[in-house]
Amino acid sequence: MNTPDLNRRSFVKLSLAAGAVAAAPGAFAQDAAAFTLPELPFKPAALEPHIDARTMEIHHGKHHAAYVTNANTAIAANPSLKGKTVEEIIATLPSIADEALRNTLRNNAGGHWNHAAFWQMLAPAGQGGQPSDALASAIKSAFGSLDDFKKLFGEAATKRFGSGWAWLIVQNGKLKITSTANQDNPLMKGIVPDADLGTPILGLDVWEHAYYLHYQNRRPDYIAAFWNVVNWKEAARRFEGV
Ligand code: MN
Repeated sequence: MNTPDLNRRSFVKLSLAAGAVAAAPGAFAQDAAAFTLPELPFKPAALEPHIDARTMEIHHGKHHAAYVTNANTAIAANPSLKGKTVEEIIATLPSIADEALRNTLRNNAGGHWNHAAFWQMLAPAGQGGQPSDALASAIKSAFGSLDDFKKLFGEAATKRFGSGWAWLIVQNGKLKITSTANQDNPLMKGIVPDADLGTPILGLDVWEHAYYLHYQNRRPDYIAAFWNVVNWKEAARRFEGV
């Protein structure tokens, strides 16, 4: 009979759906992908006109999906990495001797972490709230005012040459603006310069794939529009969790 196979397939399917379960050691864990593409927390059109639906569909369904697939392929071929969370993979990067594998995971586990966080950091206009009192106070203390923060963050995002990210991080207990190239992020100790390390509170993807369909070369317009769709509730949650 086929019952054992059906059960096995059902288990794998459930494991993939559960995400965290897929990474846990278990009877069939070796068959389960390490990471899964998370659902967008809003409909692709929900950020219009600031970020268009087609961009969101391709960005999430193609770009982010490819980072997940590529990271899973690399992990599947390297048994010592199986079962690790994406944060653990990122923390493991400096100890990976194989340069090709290290770079594959830097780009793709990094890309997965960055995008999974980015979707949470966005919300439809009017739904993201305002910075919490604690975050607003820290922003004022670090940058002078919310407008000053936006200006400085926008400059970091504008000046990032080529592809990368602008970040608001907590570093040694203080807020700081920084940026990283490609799919690097401020959690990559031993990979990015120490000056860029910290806990991400807010991030902005400035790869052309994040804005080119709607904004073409006008990255500053995309950056300005970002402030309409920031999920300040998520930023506060991350800030208060540091
Ligand atoms: Mn992206």
